[in-house]
Amino acid sequence: MRKKIVAGNWKMNTTLAEGVELAKGITEQINDISKGVSLIVAPPFTHLAIIAQMLKGTPVAVSAQNCADQPKGAFTGEVSAAMLKSVGCTYTILGHSERREYYGETSEKLVKKMALAFENGLKVIFCVGEKLEERNEGNHFDVVAAQISEVLFGLEPQQMKNVIVAYEPVWAIGTGVTATDEQAQEMHSYIRKTLAAHFGEEIADETSILYGGSCKPSNAKKLSSCPDIDGGLIGGASLKAEDFIAIAKAW
Ligand code: PEP
Repeated sequence: MRKKIVAGNWKMNTTLAEGVELAKGITEQINDISKGVSLIVAPPFTHLAIIAQMLKGTPVAVSAQNCADQPKGAFTGEVSAAMLKSVGCTYTILGHSERREYYGETSEKLVKKMALAFENGLKVIFCVGEKLEERNEGNHFDVVAAQISEVLFGLEPQQMKNVIVAYEPVWAIGTGVTATDEQAQEMHSYIRKTLAAHFGEEIADETSILYGGSCKPSNAKKLSSCPDIDGGLIGGASLKAEDFIAIAKAW
């Protein structure tokens, strides 16, 4: 049985004090959530050590939003997978569309990052998703299939057990426009079939596939009722503990 997961991507938001407050708010309401749903928060790098310490012993796991494509050394401004592990991260997000779009994150780089994440004992939330023009041209399935095959198909089947896939249509991220439950379910089912064709049915069935893109308390219930949508990767709405918890309650 695959896991249901709701993860909050805080992006470049919150000061340390605000982040600590937000994490506290989440833990205070954790009992409202079904035991079958796992929570993850992805604060900015500067907060990770403190928030991981705070959340130790709670059911909320901590993720980074990115990691370096080099193990260590003269790479000013970068943060390595080993560093993330050493401060208590369990996961790192990789391939978020904002990283692909603004920081030139290619599949080639993502392959390196993923290998380093695994070498250092991190699990990965791997993001895929098409742009609006790609959907309008009818290329959305091909775009997502390429993002998956270029990065995930090099993995051993065992490594896939440490990957959560997040489908985040770029046109839905931070725009207030959510994919309809039909659009999201259709793509999630396609992603699962793509994984099954390469890794086999069992691994595909066990992989959690999260939806991301303007998910909020008001639309989470519809998305959560789709058979292949195993949770959410939440941006804006994860910055308010009540909203994040309300979304998690939908799953
Ligand atoms: C995201 O960027 O991962 C995301 C889903 O953002 P939002 O919920 O704000 O659309």
